[in-house]
Amino acid sequence: MESYRELDPAEVRGVVFDIDDTVTRNGVLEPDAYAAMHLLAGAGLELVAVTGRPLGWTDVIARLWPVRVAVGENGAGWTWVDDTGTHEGYFCNEAERIEQATLLDTIRRKTTAAMPQVQITNDHRHRRCDLAFDVGESVSLPRAEIDALVALIEALGARSSVSTVHAHAVPGPWDKAEGVARALADVLGIDLGNELDRWVFVGDSGNDAAAFERFPKSVGVANVREHLDRLPVQPRYVTDGDRGRGFAELAGHLVGHRG
Ligand SMILES: [Mg+2]
Repeated sequence: MESYRELDPAEVRGVVFDIDDTVTRNGVLEPDAYAAMHLLAGAGLELVAVTGRPLGWTDVIARLWPVRVAVGENGAGWTWVDDTGTHEGYFCNEAERIEQATLLDTIRRKTTAAMPQVQITNDHRHRRCDLAFDVGESVSLPRAEIDALVALIEALGARSSVSTVHAHAVPGPWDKAEGVARALADVLGIDLGNELDRWVFVGDSGNDAAAFERFPKSVGVANVREHLDRLPVQPRYVTDGDRGRGFAELAGHLVGHRG
């Protein structure tokens, strides 16, 4: 991985960023990172938050943070605010989402029976399209148990995605990269495929794998080094600081260049 200083910010139009352990530390948004979001937005860059967190959370994030759109549940849906109000979009249509909910019910029953020690996340009631298990937020599940859980989810017919805090059962074809592409088309009329080089992606862990692979200007905050074994493709660039401090460093580089 190269230093983020090697990233050429000259033609960057926007920054897509993960939330947990990219702009937060111990689950709390870091002040440097929040200031950095305002710095970026104030310099005219488009900001997109993309997270495995619930769509109930992206409803709040889209309203409170200086982002154009907030994508939740690893790409399953998104929320945005414009002059006409607050809006939501989904990767799959309503009929598909009803079918997916049935699959998630089955997965929830069978995993609870097979691995009673594994808990559903405490943000579950805010979720609409996926099911997440706590692997590192309130509990610290051993790596072998996380792997067993992932194998069970996949055997039951869903895909899986693992972040620092949660293991997700993903019942549809979305991921962070596809979700961001759909959201940008839906909200800003952008064909991301035509301008991938103009967007920077910043993340830290396994559920960012698809985005690290898709975005040529991909950046890991320094703590990404702890998760390289879950990343088939490493981010191209890495920051010196970890978490929100790394995000703030990158923002300073992107904006400084524009001055
Ligand atoms: Mg993360």
